[in-house]
Amino acid sequence: MNNTISLKSNSWIPQKVNKIHSKNNRKKSRIKLLLTCVFKPYGVTDEYGDALCSMELLNNQITREQGIHSPRSNNLSFGLYLLAENIGVPVTVLDFPSWKNFTHEVDSGNYTHIGITFIASNVTKTQRMANYIRRNTPETTIILGGHGTAIPDLEKIVDCDEICHGEGVTWLRNYFKENINRPIIHPVVGAAIKASIYGVPLMNKDGVIIPGVGCQNGCRFCSTSHKFNKKYTAFLSTGSDIYKACNKSEKKAGYTHFGLMDENFCKNEIQARQLLVEMEKEQKAYTFNTFSSAEAVTQMGVDFLVRVGVNLIWIGAESKTNIFEKTKGIDLHSLIADLQKHGISVLTSTILFLEHHNKKTIEDDINWAISLESDLHQFMQFGPVPGTPLFTDYFAKGKLINDFPWQHRHGQGTIWFKHPSFTLPETSVYLKNAFIKKYHAHGPGVLNMAHTAIRGYLTVKKEMEDRKTLGLTWDPKTLRYTRQTGYQSDHFMKLRLESIRKNALKFRPLLHTILKYAPNKQSALKSRTIIELFNKTFGPASIKDRIMDIMVKIISFWENRRFQKNGVIMRQPSLIREMYRCHQNK
Ligand code: SF4
Repeated sequence: MNNTISLKSNSWIPQKVNKIHSKNNRKKSRIKLLLTCVFKPYGVTDEYGDALCSMELLNNQITREQGIHSPRSNNLSFGLYLLAENIGVPVTVLDFPSWKNFTHEVDSGNYTHIGITFIASNVTKTQRMANYIRRNTPETTIILGGHGTAIPDLEKIVDCDEICHGEGVTWLRNYFKENINRPIIHPVVGAAIKASIYGVPLMNKDGVIIPGVGCQNGCRFCSTSHKFNKKYTAFLSTGSDIYKACNKSEKKAGYTHFGLMDENFCKNEIQARQLLVEMEKEQKAYTFNTFSSAEAVTQMGVDFLVRVGVNLIWIGAESKTNIFEKTKGIDLHSLIADLQKHGISVLTSTILFLEHHNKKTIEDDINWAISLESDLHQFMQFGPVPGTPLFTDYFAKGKLINDFPWQHRHGQGTIWFKHPSFTLPETSVYLKNAFIKKYHAHGPGVLNMAHTAIRGYLTVKKEMEDRKTLGLTWDPKTLRYTRQTGYQSDHFMKLRLESIRKNALKFRPLLHTILKYAPNKQSALKSRTIIELFNKTFGPASIKDRIMDIMVKIISFWENRRFQKNGVIMRQPSLIREMYRCHQNK
């Protein structure tokens, strides 16, 4: 790592790095852009990567150490599709390329510009890609984007012409001299590929919606907040826009469940309220997985989240000591329990090796995290990531470990700064043991989600019946059910209840397999209780469910044998190659 630091401010103005290579004066008609992520294999330890940094969010850091109970999937590079859809030049998107795929594309000589998106831990892959471009098509302009661009003096590591800081659509429009105020067109994008559980491929039709980027909370360690200057930049500025993007995705690809990729969905209250109003108006009960901070979730209330269709919410709990504004004064235990009771699975996250952690307080925090009893939990190491105040602070104080390889700075291996209470090797052991402890305390995450889903169905059904008896109606102003003159049947909640029922039934064919591979007696008992609850609620399993149950058992048997023999199997996602507006070049 370089000793001088020059953290560049996030700017929408293109920054010239190397005037010799800049080809910005090309005739626009000749421009052809390739947008790519870094090359595979992912999650493999080699000179460019690390086994603990894969393209699988769930397996890598949420259901880690859960063996075959860990759902598998590869999330797409959503930003690339959004960029491609919203600039006027012909674009090819390359997602999950192998080295051969990438070099083949470069060797075609088709591209005047190549943009590579990457996170800091993938900078050595980016360096190799840039070197290849420079060697083989020296006329091509190299643009770097993504969170990795916050690495100080990046241009000394990666040979490039331009660095896109901040929000990319505006940056690229500006760069190509396009109208930056043109409305954003939301792409139709799937959430993941190669999704499977117990080795069984999942046919889920899940889409992704990106309402905006950034978060105003500005937590000291948070790269997503600081990349966008602690500001929220909306791509879809109203709830109506979000609804239209969902509806377009449903019409084009059949998606009805979405990952709502907003750092803090409930923080933008007006937008969230509008989304519900639109769905009610159109009688469309879409469902969502999303992120929100505890204080914003409390503000909007659980009734609202159920009604708007949140199936899973990620809440940053961070630490028992409540050192972050977003959790101050919030009873996280009761908030999480209330969400789960209403069918909303909760994914919490905490940070290990914070400044106040020593060998006792870290155990306190791990135990506290487990006591939250969330469905899923991410333990992540405190990480001074470039672009954050934490990085600047630690750099200035000389706390960062010089020459710590970038590919290992991902928060799931060892820390890369000097901690007064822990050696580096200890940090990886503490982290791994924390995941194992959570797993043994509460069982597989998929079992917890099944439990939440069936409990939610029962709670919401009962509450609807109670409201009918009491004459309570939804009040969109207060976001509560209140007694109003003239009770009206709540048709939208009937649709919502049906979506909750369908969500619960998705888990049914998995339950006997979860039981079979239960990690301990406690989990086996929990599995049996949940199976009984499903039977009591929905009656005996249908023939279709029984056939699926048998199929899952057979496939999981082989998956388990592979797992026992080889450990976690890192299956690589297939290449996605999409072209946009390329007809203009014909
Ligand atoms: S609330 Fe979450 S997204 Fe927002 S700054 Fe804090 S960690 Fe980042």
